[in-house]
Amino acid sequence: MNTGLYVHIPFCIKKCNYCDFNSYSGIFNLQDAYFEKLKNEILALDYNFETVYIGGGTPTAVKNENLCSLLETIMPKTAEGCEVTVECNPGTVSRADLENIKRAGANRLSIGLQSTHEKHLKALGRIHNLKDFQDCLKNAKMAGFENISLDLMFGLPDQNIEEWEETLRFAVSSGVTHISAYSLKIEEGTPFYNMELNLPDEDLNREMYDMAVKILGENGFNRYEISNFARKGYESRHNLRYWETKSFIGVGAGAYSCIDEKRYAYIKDIRGYIEKAEIEYCDELTKFDEMSEFVFLGLRCAKGISISEFETRFGYSFYDVFGEAMEKHIKRGTLIRNGDRIFVPDEFLYVSNMILSDFV
Ligand code: SF4
Repeated sequence: MNTGLYVHIPFCIKKCNYCDFNSYSGIFNLQDAYFEKLKNEILALDYNFETVYIGGGTPTAVKNENLCSLLETIMPKTAEGCEVTVECNPGTVSRADLENIKRAGANRLSIGLQSTHEKHLKALGRIHNLKDFQDCLKNAKMAGFENISLDLMFGLPDQNIEEWEETLRFAVSSGVTHISAYSLKIEEGTPFYNMELNLPDEDLNREMYDMAVKILGENGFNRYEISNFARKGYESRHNLRYWETKSFIGVGAGAYSCIDEKRYAYIKDIRGYIEKAEIEYCDELTKFDEMSEFVFLGLRCAKGISISEFETRFGYSFYDVFGEAMEKHIKRGTLIRNGDRIFVPDEFLYVSNMILSDFV
């Protein structure tokens, strides 16, 4: 069976001030055992992978030989033309490391830039500066990567619109194929949660988002999902799997899977995962949950959802299940129907959660 594979690498050099991911600093001594476990788990899987995403954490912060050996374990199980992405943080890889990763099978890099301003990178607790990023990007290109994504963040403490514009203009001129632009969220349990921060208000946040859509759009980066922009043909095939509610397997501490109508996640604790990769959470979705998820996630994408695909997949009339909610939003102008497709108009995509709550 064909599916997607996500592999979680929970090691980081230093924990960032805003991060609530399942990632830890100071435990690199566990990496060899962790990678052995990951490889054994992957070898036991009987699937053919159409997309692979190695994320974290910081996959490039571990020993290069561990990351390459993981890729070499995965590659014989991939379909032809498989998109193989590795998340990469500036300041953690050399050109030789990137050449090895490429040789081992990766064909896409996702680099966390976040901002071009030293003061914002410092405030976020990132370990890199702009020069590290520039070196990393140059090395990635020299190593042969031509499909490269950048992560950016806006709505940062003390950030003004001019600084955000500079970051965007730098990003579009950097020669990458894909840009993700996320608004900073202050999550409970992170250092930012307990700090007094001067954050941009809602209006400025919205202005920053609109500026991203405009500048990225004018420079050939098409918004295909609320926060994701790509040059034609370079949309993230792995992330599209999530929004199109296609199956995927997650391997690693806390990794989440969605396969055979089941959702499950491994134990989050790294030592626990190494000892025994126990399933910590498992849920079987009802048909309605699945239909709702299809609409909720699909409408995050600019192209929206196909009514006929919904009906073929679930065996129910879309009108019978969601007709009322759909008509309400079409009347308000917050949804558009064009033939078989329903989508959120451009101007409402950023606030689409308000619309989507009527479909759950
Ligand atoms: S590098 Fe990424 S995963 Fe690691 S602490 Fe920072 S934001 Fe979290």
